[in-house]
Amino acid sequence: MMEYITLRNGFKIPKLGYGVYQITNDKAQECVENALLCGYRLIDTAQAYHNEQGVGKAISHCDIARKDLFITSKIWISNYQEHKAYASIEDSLRNLNLDYIDLMLIHQPFGDYYSAYRALEKAQADGLVRSIGVSNFYTDRLVDICLFAHTKPVINQVETHVFNQQKKSNQYMKKYGVQIESWGPFAEGRNNFFTNTTLMSIAKECNKSVAQIALRFLLQKDIITIPKTINKDRMLENINIFDFILNNEQISKIENLDLNQSQFFSHYDPNTVEFIANLR
Ligand code: NAP
Repeated sequence: MMEYITLRNGFKIPKLGYGVYQITNDKAQECVENALLCGYRLIDTAQAYHNEQGVGKAISHCDIARKDLFITSKIWISNYQEHKAYASIEDSLRNLNLDYIDLMLIHQPFGDYYSAYRALEKAQADGLVRSIGVSNFYTDRLVDICLFAHTKPVINQVETHVFNQQKKSNQYMKKYGVQIESWGPFAEGRNNFFTNTTLMSIAKECNKSVAQIALRFLLQKDIITIPKTINKDRMLENINIFDFILNNEQISKIENLDLNQSQFFSHYDPNTVEFIANLR
């Protein structure tokens, strides 16, 4: 059965959700409808995914009570000026066909993100969004916004998986009452994720798949996660992780897989900043 975490501001969020990055707007409706049928209640989209409308159609067509859904979106860099950011939240609401968004994040810590964050604070005060947070804020940026923003973020969504466990960053998040949420829980398959011998042997011991072991590890670390798949069988596989427990020995073997570095790119690399700043 789904487990939940209560955020610092009192709202409950499912510990496992469904992410829709790299799913086209046309396909998003069907994928999210399938995910909702499989039991997912947290859906993670973003302005930059260009699929909020597809997600919105799935939400409109389902007969799940609004209070039981948890919808996340994110403001993209090109909308970071304060008025534009606020208007973009209203656009996201229209696209998603919602009258509030459960969680809205600043997608990247580049550009004038403090202005965008102030727009988020205003949108929260106006009831457009319930919770506000950040994404890809590595420790220095996270501490900075916690110290200088009026309202501290409740969540920081960062790349987190067995090869990049964010142990130190998470200590700082805990210090400021910020909940960690993992993106890329399978590192999108990088570094031979699904054939890792340690994960495969633990999967055999538990009679589960590598994907299920990787997600269960995050669950037991109280890390919220949002795996993506377009395949309904995999949606079921990825949510079927609440009926077993990794023991201490298995957990410590997985802890030892940590390479403590991104499998994608470093947010401290100027080439990454240029690359992300140019995305639309
Ligand atoms: P991911 O969830 O680590 O990996 C997705 C890949 O794994 C897809 O290729 C999928 O293939 C495959 N897969 C899924 N379940 C599987 C299973 N049980 N067995 C084998 N392969 C499986 O990567 P992600 O999509 O990058 O991250 C998840 C979500 O995090 C995104 O959808 C998005 O919502 C969020 N995200 C946020 C940021 C950010 O900057 N905030 C960045 C990236 C992602 P199929 O689809 O073909 O099944």
